[in-house]
Amino acid sequence: MSTYVFGHTSPDSDSIVGAISLSYLKNQLGEDCVPTRQGEISAETEFILNKFGGTLPELKTSVAGEKVYIIDFSDKAQAPKDIMQATILGIVDHHKLGDLTTDTPLECWIRPIGCSNTVVKEMYDYHKVEIPKDIAGMMMCAILSDTVIFKSPTCTKVDTKAVKELAAICGVEDYKALAMEMFIAKSAVNGASARNLNTRDYKMFEMNGSKVGINQLEMVDISVLESRKQELLEDMKKMKEEDALHTVVVLLTDIMKEGSQLLVVSDDESKIEAAFDIKLQNSQAWLPGVLSRKKQVIPFLQPQFR
Ligand code: MG
Ligand code: MG
Ligand code: MG
Repeated sequence: MSTYVFGHTSPDSDSIVGAISLSYLKNQLGEDCVPTRQGEISAETEFILNKFGGTLPELKTSVAGEKVYIIDFSDKAQAPKDIMQATILGIVDHHKLGDLTTDTPLECWIRPIGCSNTVVKEMYDYHKVEIPKDIAGMMMCAILSDTVIFKSPTCTKVDTKAVKELAAICGVEDYKALAMEMFIAKSAVNGASARNLNTRDYKMFEMNGSKVGINQLEMVDISVLESRKQELLEDMKKMKEEDALHTVVVLLTDIMKEGSQLLVVSDDESKIEAAFDIKLQNSQAWLPGVLSRKKQVIPFLQPQFR
């Protein structure tokens, strides 16, 4: 029986590539692993798979009775609904520790670094397994995406070193130029519905009994969304009602200006104002320097719910 390897809901490039890179490693180590995904892939991930000839992992949203490895998350709210009926063999991640627990011993590789694929790179090195060219290219792109081309405060020396080594393996010299191409592919918003934009990189968190949904759009120029903010806020209100959420936050992150426009729909706006020491105007605020949801948003929001 195969073991399934997958990342979080609304999968980003780290989740998809991580499923592929971790499965390959486990297969080399004699385990029978299959990469899967919990949802549709982004334009950025499509760009990466096309660039390096990667295969799209199969869609799998139910895992009861299966053995699994999870990568790039450990929050129940980002797992398949029946995750507690699966056997989690291991977690590979770079986020805060979530609320998933297990009945059996497991392997854990959780590090406070820029990308799950950097952790996977360390696993390859630890096991002395050679990384194939195509997988190295995809891992490199996942790290460049998660670290916003090394600009994110989550980025560490381990990540930059991993990118350099992976670039040498896959034969890409100007990896920063490739990363810009990737972010431009990711920034395409023409013809996208408000719901599509609001769920592109959407994560739900349980904060002391309150459900908080946070979406992040990382773009090379957020001004193209200026005329659509009201529409986004209207749709956020609908999302809040549909899932009985306390708060919906959307971060429009401008990777060139290095900051995020915050959009908020909440039962209690004062919690968000207190978290970031700001005053919301029309449910919005500009957060200079904020690029990382995991390091600059969640740690400030979560204490407001205690
Ligand atoms: Mg992720
Ligand atoms: Mg990640
Ligand atoms: Mg990200």
